[in-house]
Amino acid sequence: MQVRFLGAAREVTGSCHEVTVEGRRLLLDCGMWQGARDEAREKNRAFALRGKNIHAILLSHAHIDHSGNLPQLVDSGFRGTVWCTPATRDLARVLLLDSASIAARDVAYLKKRERRAVEPLFTESDVERILAAMKVVPYGTWFEPAPHVRARFEDAGHIIGSASVHMEIDEPGRERKRLTFTGDFGRRGLPLLRDPAPLPPAEIVLTESTYGGRCHDDGVDPCGAMKTALAEAVRSAEQSGGKLIIPAFSVGRTQTLLYFLNELADEGRIPRLHVFVDSPLSTEATVIMRRHADILDAETHAKLARAADPLLNDRVHLVESVEQSKRINDMPGTAIIIAPSGMCEFGRVVHHLKHHLHDPRAVVAFVGYQGVHTLGRRILEGVTPVRLLGTSIDVRARVVKMNGFSAHADRRELLEALDPLKGVAEHVCVVHGEPDQADALVAGLREAGFRSPVAPEPNDVIEL
Ligand SMILES: [Zn+2]
Repeated sequence: MQVRFLGAAREVTGSCHEVTVEGRRLLLDCGMWQGARDEAREKNRAFALRGKNIHAILLSHAHIDHSGNLPQLVDSGFRGTVWCTPATRDLARVLLLDSASIAARDVAYLKKRERRAVEPLFTESDVERILAAMKVVPYGTWFEPAPHVRARFEDAGHIIGSASVHMEIDEPGRERKRLTFTGDFGRRGLPLLRDPAPLPPAEIVLTESTYGGRCHDDGVDPCGAMKTALAEAVRSAEQSGGKLIIPAFSVGRTQTLLYFLNELADEGRIPRLHVFVDSPLSTEATVIMRRHADILDAETHAKLARAADPLLNDRVHLVESVEQSKRINDMPGTAIIIAPSGMCEFGRVVHHLKHHLHDPRAVVAFVGYQGVHTLGRRILEGVTPVRLLGTSIDVRARVVKMNGFSAHADRRELLEALDPLKGVAEHVCVVHGEPDQADALVAGLREAGFRSPVAPEPNDVIEL
């Protein structure tokens, strides 16, 4: 067998690793490369040509940087099966359809404003075709994605439906090899989700390293630290009378934010402000979370049993249309706007930033990772002015970063989760991290006693 690192090798987006067993190619994830618009389009286009002869895909979770290049594969000849958990299929459906509509709007914008004719990476019908190729398996259930290979998903505690992937490979005449792919690995103690399941022993380990060199500075109480940071941002915007804009993933982090905002208001730590969730996805994500309540944590089960909705109430407004979205900016006074992030490169958050970045009363609170060369990263690093929708804007809003909101395990949590694999793992490959983070985790693993961990370059191959 061989493992090739096609994406998310010494970077964080475009997660895709190829496992070849007896000539059959399996992919772990098929994620979209995300970053500056034109570069992203070219990289993802180039990837789409690889669809032919892929036997099956094992999808760790629905985030676009893990699933976003799936629809393009159908066109390039993929006829295999995409394996995932039931919640991942439901979420992938809404995220991929949303991605298709963003692509369509983007193409229309380029045509109108810059007179450039470009094709969208994929359309809604491509999404429907890849959804038809999906087969779902619950956590803990073995399935056979190819001859000589069996696999199962375990809860990774990152977003609903997220999984670490465990494979057993029995090539004829060879010793059995086990492969563990962490996927995006979550944190213990986060609201709504269950804690990540322990990683079973494996000879080959692919681990994410988004925070391979950093620890979330929230000690033993991540929820407490996150709520305190959020309460400070809310009070800061309220005191100055401006808007609080939080660019956040629609699925996962938006629900965490709503959960904490409701708790903080109930505890009297913040005023009861209007919260606009500016994403049609969010309604669907909430429905999906309800549908899959069986895989949520015990505290959420208890709240739902008391008919206490942990997410929605009469102050939380789910914004559907673009017109409604634009009207939020004309409303006076303080309000909280949670809009899909896209690292501030696209989507509705761009319009809110255009309206409020120059306003010293406004607060922009980042809760997620912002990739290099993205507008989100430039704002976070204090660059001013910034270019946005063809205009230059002086950044006068207060910019804050709330680290603990990461749905990714930090360095300490990753090392702890991997520790039981120490004596067994022959190959530990550190992926899904920028070079400094990946290298730092490699060093940490070596120090902990792992045999020659590596952070592979794109297209590196391991033969076993
Ligand atoms: Zn993810």
